[in-house]
Amino acid sequence: MTSFDIDVPIARKDLKAGENLCDYCTAKCCRYYAFPIDTPKTWKDFDYIRWYLLHGQASIFVDEGTWFIMVMADCKHLLPDNRCGTYETRPQICREYTTDDCEYDFDSAYDKLFESPEQVQEYAEAMLPPRKRAPWMKELKKKMALPVVS
Ligand code: SF4
Ligand code: SF4
Repeated sequence: MTSFDIDVPIARKDLKAGENLCDYCTAKCCRYYAFPIDTPKTWKDFDYIRWYLLHGQASIFVDEGTWFIMVMADCKHLLPDNRCGTYETRPQICREYTTDDCEYDFDSAYDKLFESPEQVQEYAEAMLPPRKRAPWMKELKKKMALPVVS
């Protein structure tokens, strides 16, 4: 991820000893989940991605060559004050996460970001050779081209 200066309550470097960055954050890391997916190479792959993006708050981003699917959804244990409502029993992935390289001051400047199926379609059309028509589509086209007899 690339990090830029963005509007945050306090810069990391200005934290005093004993202070916790999370106390200044809106719990950004508790409001989505993301996981890597195979790099799409074929029309079929891109069609799957189009399908992902037809669902709710899903988006696709590329970071340092790796493709990810991201789903924006608040954790059900997140409290109104941005704290964890299940701190003692929180999942391991939350325990292992640290502020060292977190999204506190990340401005979402991904290498690539797709937020709609149309964006993926456009990208695939630019990157891939023309899609081959299925035989039944060719037949359909021929039928549609027949002159109308009155
Ligand atoms: S780990 Fe980072 S993103 Fe998550 S709550 Fe703390 S400061 Fe915010
Ligand atoms: S379990 Fe707690 S720390 Fe983990 S995502 Fe939910 S609110 Fe955040």
